[in-house]
Amino acid sequence: MRYSRLAETYEKIESTTKRLEMTDYLVELLKETPKEIIDKVVYLTQGKIYPDFVGLEIGVAEKLAIKAIARAAGKREKEIEEDLKTSGDIGETAQKFMAKKAQATLFQQPLTVEKVYQTLEKMAKTVGAGSMDMKLSLLAGLLTAATSKEAKYLIRTVTGNLRLGIADMTVLDALAIAYGGGKESRCYIERAYNISSDLGKVAKILVEKGLEGIKRFEVSIGKPIRPMLAERLSTPEEILEKLGGKCIAEYKYDGERIQTHKDGEKITLFSRRLENISDQYPDAIQLIRQSVKAQTAILEAECVAIDPDTGEMLPFQELMHRRRKYGIAKAMEEYPIALYFFDLLYLNGKDLTLQPYPVRRRNLEAVIQQTERIRIAEYIITDNPEELEKFFLKAIEEGCEGLLCKSIAGDSIYQAGARGWQWIKYKRDYKSEMTDTVDLVVVGAFHGRGRRAGTYGALLLAAYDSEEDSFKTVCKCGSGFTDEDLEKLPKKMKKHQILKKHPRVISTIEADVWFEPKQVIEVIGAEITLSPVHTCALNIIREGSGLAIRFPRFTGNYRPDKAAEDATTVKEIIEMYQRQLKKFE
Ligand code: AMP
Repeated sequence: MRYSRLAETYEKIESTTKRLEMTDYLVELLKETPKEIIDKVVYLTQGKIYPDFVGLEIGVAEKLAIKAIARAAGKREKEIEEDLKTSGDIGETAQKFMAKKAQATLFQQPLTVEKVYQTLEKMAKTVGAGSMDMKLSLLAGLLTAATSKEAKYLIRTVTGNLRLGIADMTVLDALAIAYGGGKESRCYIERAYNISSDLGKVAKILVEKGLEGIKRFEVSIGKPIRPMLAERLSTPEEILEKLGGKCIAEYKYDGERIQTHKDGEKITLFSRRLENISDQYPDAIQLIRQSVKAQTAILEAECVAIDPDTGEMLPFQELMHRRRKYGIAKAMEEYPIALYFFDLLYLNGKDLTLQPYPVRRRNLEAVIQQTERIRIAEYIITDNPEELEKFFLKAIEEGCEGLLCKSIAGDSIYQAGARGWQWIKYKRDYKSEMTDTVDLVVVGAFHGRGRRAGTYGALLLAAYDSEEDSFKTVCKCGSGFTDEDLEKLPKKMKKHQILKKHPRVISTIEADVWFEPKQVIEVIGAEITLSPVHTCALNIIREGSGLAIRFPRFTGNYRPDKAAEDATTVKEIIEMYQRQLKKFE
C-alpha cells in the first residue's frame, strides 16, 4: 500500500472538524487497507507505531528533524531553521523544502506503508552510541523517497506532532462501520479494545476473524486492561440505594493504581495510564512474586507509601518520591511501599472480567498470601448507612481517602475502561489542614514489631478534658521518633507504667501497655478528623464520633515542663477542628 494514500487521508481529515466526516474518511482508508497491515495503518494514523503501553517512541527531536530535512533537500540547516520560525510547523517546512526538490523524486520508487513502518520501527529501536546518526540517515532516506505531501506527514509523525484529532473512539467507530457490519457492532469492538488497550490488534482480529472473533476476544497477559472507574456520591444513604441496598465497602487507599501481570516468574506493572512502570518498583515485583500464588494472573492494587516500622500508611506525597528513573534503590529504601489488592481479572488462563465481583474477590483472597506489605483491601459488607459512615471515618483516620463502595449484584462484572455506577467512591468534600502543634499525654503504648521489636511501635496519646478532669484519646502516634528516642522510650516511661488503664483515661482502644498520665509530648498532624474510635470530643461534633489527629508525628520535643493537665485540651481540639473547617467553607 502506498504511503501517499495515508497522506491523502490525513489531509482530508485535517480539513474538517466534523467527527462524522473524519470517520467516513477513515472508513474509506481502512476498507482499502490490505489485511496484513491493518494494524500498522491504525497505529500510524494515531501517530504511533505501537500501542502506548509498549513504551517505545520514535523519538525524533526537532533538531534532528531539521538536520534530516536539510540533508534530504540539499539545503543548509540554517535555512530550514529560518523557515520554521515563520511557519511554526515543522511539517509545513518539510513540505516546502521537499517540494523544491520534486524533480529528483520523480525517478524514485514510491514509498509504501510497509517501508515507512519498517523504517520508523528501526528508528525507535535504535539506542546507544551512534543512534542519532543512524536515526538521521534513516529519516533522511525516507524523506528523499517521499513526495512533499508525504514528507509533511512523515515529519509530523516522527516528531510526535501528527495530531489528526482522531480519538480512539473514532477509530472504533470506523472499524465497526468498515468491518463489523455497522455501528451496532461497536460495543463488541470497544470491549475488545478495553481489555487489550491495543487498537491495532483489535483491528487485525476484526479483519481476520470477523465480529465472531471479536466477540471471543479475551484478556491476555502483557496487554493492560483499561481500568474500571468510579462514580461519586456524597452520602451513605444515596450510595446504598444506588447499589441495591447492600454493597461491599472497601478502603479507598491514597496511592498509585498498579495493574500487575504475572506470567510465571515474569511480572509486569502498569500504571493507571497503562505505562509500563515495572522499573520503578522492583520491591513491589519481589513482594508480588512471593505472595501471588498463581501461574498467570492479572491483578489490581493500590500502591501506598508506608512507614516500615509501624506499618502505617503515609500521605500520598511520600509515594511521589518513587516517581523517578534514577536512584531507585535509594528511593526504595527511603520510601517503602505496601500493595493493597482490590481486584483479580485473570487467573491461570481464565478471563474473570465477566464474573461478578464477589466471585473475583473470592478468587483474589485465595490467590494472595497476605503479608505486612501485601494486603487485600480492607472491607465490610453492609446494608446499614451508619455502619458505612463509621467505616468511612475509620478509613480516613487511618490515612485513606475514603471508601470505594462496590456492587455485589449478579451483574457486577469488571467494566474495563468505563466509569459506571457499579463502583461509587465516597470521599470528603472538604480538606483541612493542621497548622499548629499540640501537646498530648502519653497514656498507653503498643509493642513494636520488626525493627522496633523490644521497644514501642506507637504511643497512645490523649488530650486533657478539663471539664471532666480526664484524658481522652486522640491518636496513635508511631512516626517522628528517632532510633535514639525509641531506644530510650521504654526506660523513660517505665516509672509511669501501670497494670491497667488508668481510671482517668477514657479509651475504647486496648493498648498493650498502660501509663499513668504524666508524660507530655509535642505532636503535629496533617489535620483533625472525625473518628469512630477515639474518645476526644465524643458525641460533641457528631453523635457516635470523636475527633482524631490524622498522620500524627512526634516533633522531637518532650515537654517535661508541662504537667498532664497542661496538655492541649479537648476544647482546644474542638476549636481547632472548627477553625480548620471554616477555612474551607
Ligand atoms: P478516583 O481516582 O478518585 O476516581 O478514584 C478511583 C481510584 O481509587 C482508583 O483508580 C484506584 O487507584 C483507587 N483505589 C484505592 N482503593 C481502591 C479500591 N479498594 N478499589 C478500587 N480502587 C481503589
